[in-house]
Amino acid sequence: MRIDIITIFPKMFDPVLNESIIKRAQAKGEVKIYVHNLRDYSLDKHRKVDDRPFGGGSGMVMRPEPIFRAVKHIKSQSRKVKNSQVILLCPQGKKLTHRLARKLAKTKHLILICGHYEGVDERVRQKLANMEISIGDYVLTGGELPAMVLVDSIVRLLPGVLGDKNSLNFESFESNLLEYPHYTRPADYNGMKVPAILLSGNHKKIEKWRKTKAIQRTKQRRCDLLGI
Ligand code: SAM
Repeated sequence: MRIDIITIFPKMFDPVLNESIIKRAQAKGEVKIYVHNLRDYSLDKHRKVDDRPFGGGSGMVMRPEPIFRAVKHIKSQSRKVKNSQVILLCPQGKKLTHRLARKLAKTKHLILICGHYEGVDERVRQKLANMEISIGDYVLTGGELPAMVLVDSIVRLLPGVLGDKNSLNFESFESNLLEYPHYTRPADYNGMKVPAILLSGNHKKIEKWRKTKAIQRTKQRRCDLLGI
C-alpha cells in the first residue's frame, strides 16, 4: 500500500510516522508513506495556499490550484498504482469506522488531503476527492490529526503489520461485539484479584467466559451494535 499525505504542516507527521507499529510497517515494506508540503505546489511567490472567501465572511479558504497540482503530481509519480482514492479529511464527511478502515486497507493507494482554516475550496470536493472522511462530530483546526488517525486505523490492519495476527480476530468492532476484559500479572494487585477462570489453564472455559463477558460488555455499553 502507498499513502500520500498533502498538508501545510508536514513536520506534524514526523513523530507519528517514525514511532512504533507504523514505523515498523514502513521498515518492513508493508506500506510506503509520503508527506507532501502543499506550499511546494503553490504558484504564488510567497507560497500562499489560501485566500479570502468569495461573498465575504470570516476566515480563509484553501485555494484549489495547489491541491489539484499536488494530486496530479502524486498520481504521475505513482502511475503504476491503479485505483488511487483521493480522500479529503472533512468534518462533514462519512464517519470513520472500523468497517471503513477495513475497506480502505484493501486499497493500493490513498491520497489524503488535510484542510485548514475554513476548509478547502468547494471544487476540491466536487472534482478531486473520491471520498470525504470525518473522524467525529467535532471540528478540529486542521486535517492533520484526522489523517494520522485514519492512517493508524488502516495500517494496523494490513497483513503482516501486527506481530500476532490473531490479536485482530477478537477485537472490538471486528464483529458486532466489544472485546472482553484483559488482565495481566500480578494475579492479585492490592487485593484486586484476576478472575480465577483465567488462571485455570482450561482454554475451553476461558473462551466461553470471554464470549460471555464480550456480550455483557456490549449490552452495557453499545446496545446499538447488537441492534437492540
Ligand atoms: N468550516 C468547516 C466546517 O464548518 O465544516 C471546518 C473547517 S476545519 C476548522 C479545518 C479543516 O480541519 C477541515 O478542512 C478538515 O480538513 C479538518 N477537520 C476538522 N475537523 C475534522 C473532523 N472532525 N474530521 C476530519 N477532518 C476535520
